[in-house]
Amino acid sequence: MADRYYCAEPIQGSSVTLSGSEAHHLLHVMRAQPGLELVLFDGCGGEYRAEVVRCKRSTVELVVGPQQEIERELPFALTLAVALPKGDRQRWLIEKAVELGVTRLVPLRTARSVGNPKPERLNRYVIEASKQCGRNRLMELASACGWDEFETIETRGSRVFAHPGGVPFGQIGHDGTSDLTIAVGPEGGFTDEEAASAEGAGWAVVGLGSRILRIETAAVALVAAATTA
Ligand code: SAM
Repeated sequence: MADRYYCAEPIQGSSVTLSGSEAHHLLHVMRAQPGLELVLFDGCGGEYRAEVVRCKRSTVELVVGPQQEIERELPFALTLAVALPKGDRQRWLIEKAVELGVTRLVPLRTARSVGNPKPERLNRYVIEASKQCGRNRLMELASACGWDEFETIETRGSRVFAHPGGVPFGQIGHDGTSDLTIAVGPEGGFTDEEAASAEGAGWAVVGLGSRILRIETAAVALVAAATTA
């Protein structure tokens, strides 16, 4: 796969000027010169072959070919609602969610959540992972949402709540094609009250075996189970 660069503006017409970190990478890491060929995507679907025509101090101008309608999305909408861990673990989780095809990620605030996700930083992780894995649509990053609100407003498709002692994912009867929402709790776990109200609101409580997994392990394990079923 040719090197991929993200264009923050929707690509229209036959030329694009890259600025910011993408131009910086081309100019100062790749030492780009006119004639360099690469792939551009704007996160809205499809990708474009492009060629560098001019390198300036902080911008790179390219000619752009027609849109190639290449999609690498899942056949259903997959939402991951998760109480994000901190630091490098947060970055790892976002990266794996993008690679595995999660459509939308909702940072959850629960009774035992820690940390305060920074949307700009999360968005940068999404772009970097999309460049690497070939996704042409950016994973949507929703605003942080409290669990008590999310458990009731989220009504699309099957809804799965990860909690030790629940049933295996294979038993909930997801057909691999209909929309799915997965919720994963914080390091301290969902409280008994949160678990009880999720069940009351119709969420399926799913267990992941007899060991307690870190947040990001649980999230990746469930997403992988759902996308390879
Ligand atoms: N002491 C907490 C508890 O017992 O719930 C551990 C929380 S765990 C580090 C973080 C989150 O990952 C949990 O809230 C749950 O959503 C998910 N998780 C971890 N291990 C799990 C398992 N064996 N089965 C189901 N969910 C699990």
